[in-house]
Amino acid sequence: MSYRDWKAVYIDKTKTFETWRAEFDARRQADEQSPLRQRGRQVIEDLAAGRDPRAPKPSAPPRNYKSQIAKKLGKPDYEHIRGIVESSTHTKAAQVWYKFEDRVQIEWLRKKEGYQWGDKIFLQRRYMREGHRGMLPYEMLFHESGHLIDCLASENPGGKQVGKYFARRYKAGAFVNAVKADFNALIATKRQQLQEEIAARISAGDRRWLYDNEFCSYDVLKGAPIPKKIKVDDDDCLRFLKTDWEAAHTMMERGNFSDVVNGQTYGDLSLGTGHPRNYWLNGGSDYQSAEAFAEFFSAAIAHPASYAILQKYLPTAERIFNEILDEILKAV
Ligand SMILES: [Zn+2]
Repeated sequence: MSYRDWKAVYIDKTKTFETWRAEFDARRQADEQSPLRQRGRQVIEDLAAGRDPRAPKPSAPPRNYKSQIAKKLGKPDYEHIRGIVESSTHTKAAQVWYKFEDRVQIEWLRKKEGYQWGDKIFLQRRYMREGHRGMLPYEMLFHESGHLIDCLASENPGGKQVGKYFARRYKAGAFVNAVKADFNALIATKRQQLQEEIAARISAGDRRWLYDNEFCSYDVLKGAPIPKKIKVDDDDCLRFLKTDWEAAHTMMERGNFSDVVNGQTYGDLSLGTGHPRNYWLNGGSDYQSAEAFAEFFSAAIAHPASYAILQKYLPTAERIFNEILDEILKAV
């Protein structure tokens, strides 16, 4: 609740709390109905139904049926992934794909979910085709290829040191630092909102709300004096953010963002999918960078609604992601 609304509701009494809540819900509803979100949903439906959402772009290089990726995938799967790239709204990511397509080497897995190692990516064909854990059909191929391209564009092409990947090294970690800064800004904004809301609830003597939201003790609920000030810590901000994010976005749309949240909280907070705590503890900023890059990349090419969420919550990182793609395209 903004200060102005708080004053209108609790001091001037020119607006009821119910009116404020209705306005708040209407704004959220309007956001849900925004053209960008609707377009993303349409693309998801098209892809899930096997429809090619847009006509191929004439700028796409010819399909290379003799490439190792085409041979390994087989013609139907290769045509499908090229259809996704050619109809992608993120033309820069598509250009990066074309630049590296012939270098993508796939090995098929029978059990594990998928990963990149050295100059290869490892995939399970069924998960790749059907989509898996917040990923649309074929998105996993673009995710692992994102790791591969990050590796091949770096100073250790074919190497295995994630700390040397291109996005990690770019401007001394500008990308992963931006992911962190954007994430911290989300927490800071939520802290401000919660502090305003709590002040309003204290003024109104709303013990029930304070207790239900874990901001006061049972004694206070039962009539002990309400503290004048209540501290809001990061965990409070995160549990409210989790509720907001889960209400605003489907599991499918928020999958890529969920893993970024996992990375930033070292596995403490998940929106339903993502790497576990030990993974982040082992890899630190190197893995946070690599995963965020692969998530931006796969979303850019194959999952517009998911990309819109990354862009909304991580705007600085999104800008730097695009800079990195420019650099990769410039490099020989
Ligand atoms: Zn990954």
